[in-house]
Amino acid sequence: MSQGDGVGRDPVRAYAERARESWTKALVEWLRIPSVSALPEHAADCAAAAAWAAGRLDAMGVPAQVVPAPNAGGLPLVVARRDEDPALATVLLYGHYDVQPADPLDQWTSPPFAPRIVGDDVFARGADDNKGQCWAVLCGVAALLGAEGRLPVNLRVVLEGEEECGGHALADLVAADPDRLRADAAWAADGSLFTPGLPAIYTATRGIVYAELEACGGETDLHSGMYGGAAPNPLLALCHVLAGCKPWNGAVTLPGFYDHVQRPAADELAAWAALPFDEAAYQRDEVRAPALPGEHGYTLLERLWARPTFEVHGIVGGFVGAGAKTVIPSRAVAKISLRLVPDQDPMEVVRALEERVNFLRPEGVTLTLRALEAEPPVRLPTDHPVLDAGRRALSAGFGREPALVRMGGSLPALAVIAKVLGIPTVMTGFGLPDDRLHAPDEKFHLPHLVHGAVATAAFLREVGRLGARVRLG
Ligand SMILES: [Zn+2]
Repeated sequence: MSQGDGVGRDPVRAYAERARESWTKALVEWLRIPSVSALPEHAADCAAAAAWAAGRLDAMGVPAQVVPAPNAGGLPLVVARRDEDPALATVLLYGHYDVQPADPLDQWTSPPFAPRIVGDDVFARGADDNKGQCWAVLCGVAALLGAEGRLPVNLRVVLEGEEECGGHALADLVAADPDRLRADAAWAADGSLFTPGLPAIYTATRGIVYAELEACGGETDLHSGMYGGAAPNPLLALCHVLAGCKPWNGAVTLPGFYDHVQRPAADELAAWAALPFDEAAYQRDEVRAPALPGEHGYTLLERLWARPTFEVHGIVGGFVGAGAKTVIPSRAVAKISLRLVPDQDPMEVVRALEERVNFLRPEGVTLTLRALEAEPPVRLPTDHPVLDAGRRALSAGFGREPALVRMGGSLPALAVIAKVLGIPTVMTGFGLPDDRLHAPDEKFHLPHLVHGAVATAAFLREVGRLGARVRLG
């Protein structure tokens, strides 16, 4: 299929358009299930959402199983496969059925798990991230099977339920049985179009190190009148250490931090410069701040996508009530994170952070660093036949050649699929930039069910056409 096939003549597009209403009804059903992975009281809902997806896959002709998480207390995965012919290439589809918590509830126009359709949009928690997008992917399989009765590839599907809570069920599943998800190409939709009408393929995601830094001074809180001038102040110590790690507008000072940072290639930077990105509108409407401070010498998109960061998320300690209390606290804790870019190694960064923090440690305080999360950055193919298949597929689905972009955030599943399993992966998204994922009034644009399904079907066809070549690629 190509753009030239025309909308009317492609049987998959015709099938998808006829099915849109029933697909929408099904999506609404899935959205009613409050599969919030971060909250233990929703564990049964998560299992129900997994069972729903497995049932749908079974019904469309892709035998599916709900697999208990290999990790104790983890949430189940949905794993499905359909084998057509061992001579064909194999494609893995990825998605997640879990959603973010819905709070603050009072900021929703209608209840988050009572989906509301207004015009072409459905409003519900998980509508965009990731049920709407994931359902579009699965509908692409349904459309292909409905229109043609068979698939041009062997199919593997994995849907996880711990994407939003930082779980490791998927990584554990792959570690226990790498062959189960082995494929020649992978397709994931857990992002967004770059702007309405312009689809995107992500060529890299940033990794993350998240840590807590605890500073301890005296054994108890002390009065600053009696002890100020003598007692070590852990809050000031944290300020000193944090500012020493990242001067305002300057580079991060961790030893060796930039040694493995790869500058994007000239053609990638040129492509970013040509994107329809309005910096003034971004500052005014998204960041809503009087300036966009950051490292000198890099464009804004480069700072967001291809430069590592150092951020402080919270500092706890001392007195934070109204009015004055002259306490020198005995203890203070900072929450910090670093976003990492290819080819930084998260464990190396944790060690460098430890070294830098100890070097900066002021006299009289002890510092303890606890790493809570360490996910690597992921680089996806930029010159691989599977990427070209993805480009043509998105052109077929959305009627426009996709932009090649990067993701400032992290998607740990990609590290498993693209890095551990080594599968050439096309990471895209069917959401819109203003879908408010993770926020009240999350929505999904329903025409993208059809466009996303057609794009997915086109991807399966394109990889099917590549056949054995993709394995050599
Ligand atoms: Zn997601």
